[in-house]
Amino acid sequence: MMWYTHVVFGVLFYLIAVLFGAPMSLMDIGMAAFGALMPDIDHPKSYISTKLPGGSVMPRFVEHRGPTHTIEAAILITALVGGIAYWITDSYWPAVAFFIGYISHLFADTLTVSGIKWSHFSSFHPRGKIKTGTKGEGLVLVLVTFATVVLFIYIAMPEQTAQNLGWVLLIALLATFAIIGKKLKRLK
Ligand SMILES: [Zn+2]
Repeated sequence: MMWYTHVVFGVLFYLIAVLFGAPMSLMDIGMAAFGALMPDIDHPKSYISTKLPGGSVMPRFVEHRGPTHTIEAAILITALVGGIAYWITDSYWPAVAFFIGYISHLFADTLTVSGIKWSHFSSFHPRGKIKTGTKGEGLVLVLVTFATVVLFIYIAMPEQTAQNLGWVLLIALLATFAIIGKKLKRLK
């Protein structure tokens, strides 16, 4: 999946956690997006590898969609990044958000035809039907972005959303295409 699809997945997964009591904070949403980008640190041309200092190191040692695309890596890298975040913010939520984002990446990649192996210690290798960079991914991106916007509006204004659901869905649809319209045009 492309990097922005992963960002939207990460935000959606975190907003679902907000429904279950996680704090609604921009920093934690940002950490979820960061976690959602992190697994692709194993690819030299990924967004995160080109943006993060030292991002070109990892691809020399591991194959793409290999070790970083596992539960073990999610735990290890969350311990590292989340530990630093805890040290700075004195809150464990950035680490939780990062982990949620990381898992959302594994979930999203599972929807693709090549799928991923979720653990180094198991042969479990689920695959989906989506080809990266195609209209199939575009459809997933539209649905996930739409759900994210609806959820965001609901969390911000639960009562108004319930009373004006039709309007909320219409606004969310327009917002969805305003956010990802340009990205959709690039798909094959
Ligand atoms: Zn990936």
